[in-house]
Amino acid sequence: MLPSPVDRPWRFLLALAILPAFLSPGCSRGRPNTPPADRAGADAPHADTPERHEFARLCMGVETRIILYANDRAQAVARAAMAFERINELDHALSDYRLDSTLSRVNAAAGAEPVAVDDDLFDALRTSMHLAALSNGAFDPTIGPLVQVWRVQRRTGQPAPAGEQRSALALVNWRDLDLNAQTRTAFLRRKGMRLDLGGIGKGIAAQEAVRTLTAMGSPRCMVSLAGDIAAGLPPPDQPRGWRIEVRSGAEAPPIGTLWLAQMSVSTSGDSEQFIELDGVRLGHIIDPRSGRTSAPGAFAVVVSSRGDHADALATTLLLTPADQRESLLLALADGHKDDTSRAGAIIEEPSPDSPSHRGRSTIDPFGVLRWAP
Ligand code: ADP
Ligand code: MG
Repeated sequence: MLPSPVDRPWRFLLALAILPAFLSPGCSRGRPNTPPADRAGADAPHADTPERHEFARLCMGVETRIILYANDRAQAVARAAMAFERINELDHALSDYRLDSTLSRVNAAAGAEPVAVDDDLFDALRTSMHLAALSNGAFDPTIGPLVQVWRVQRRTGQPAPAGEQRSALALVNWRDLDLNAQTRTAFLRRKGMRLDLGGIGKGIAAQEAVRTLTAMGSPRCMVSLAGDIAAGLPPPDQPRGWRIEVRSGAEAPPIGTLWLAQMSVSTSGDSEQFIELDGVRLGHIIDPRSGRTSAPGAFAVVVSSRGDHADALATTLLLTPADQRESLLLALADGHKDDTSRAGAIIEEPSPDSPSHRGRSTIDPFGVLRWAP
């Protein structure tokens, strides 16, 4: 029997994000060292005491874990399969690695014609546009061309010619994405533009998987895709929630442990996804307005009532001046009166006065960060 999450806090590491998001087609069991699909199922079922079950697969290019409570193994396996299937469906809508995704079809028609999109892509793009507007373009779903240049640099180990970087930057602008709610179409106005939802897709997937498990009768659950975690109701033996240990990297000392229940938490930073060119560290969080990457070593942890906001905000806050971060969280809550968005964040970054020192700040206007002893 595995220790419960109470004994062994759920380790929440940026370091888990070891593969690029959206790399693999769908969820698979084929990864070496992946734990057996069901690690708690060996015990005999107890009809009225829900048992803890844990599953792990590779989805959207990262290790994806589900913990759920169910009455017996067969029930748990069936429910987890539905949740993985939901993640797979989102991957087919949102992935820029899959040539057959709805998103890739929009990219292929850039500068030519609007493309009819499924609800998953439409909703993700609508949320992304809202975040882009509120963040003065710090979050941008059309970041694709700059990400492509970054990936080429990672592959070749060589800096891209300045001209390539400039042309990519000129193609990034969320205002040139037309989303039509009547026709449910998306249109990138200029040839060469490219959508990339790597900064929001895993948060959406974790949240949707929790929704699926809840709808199927397992509301006490938690789903993680690398550094993006969504929690349902708390485990039966821990009414305060799931314990989430926060670190900035695999080797870094823990910052603390958070309680999480019916909330999501995401991290962003360059501790895993970075390249070094001519001694300069370039992370995968890119400012769409300048093409520059986020400050080396900076990382953000965001807790939010919405998985999509947690994920996208963790990326966005690293590109937002310190004195505008709280107003961004407040503006986001204001725009979602019916569908409340409450978020708080911890940000660690080199201090502006002396870059060799790191400063840590907490922004928590709604009191959503609950530290465990
Ligand atoms: P991870 O995918 O490792 O969890 P993030 O959630 O921070 O990390 O997302 C980083 C990804 O988001 C990048 O790989 C890229 O696809 C995309 N991205 C980078 N910069 C931006 C930006 N300014 N706005 C929107 N998406 C971005
Ligand atoms: Mg993110």
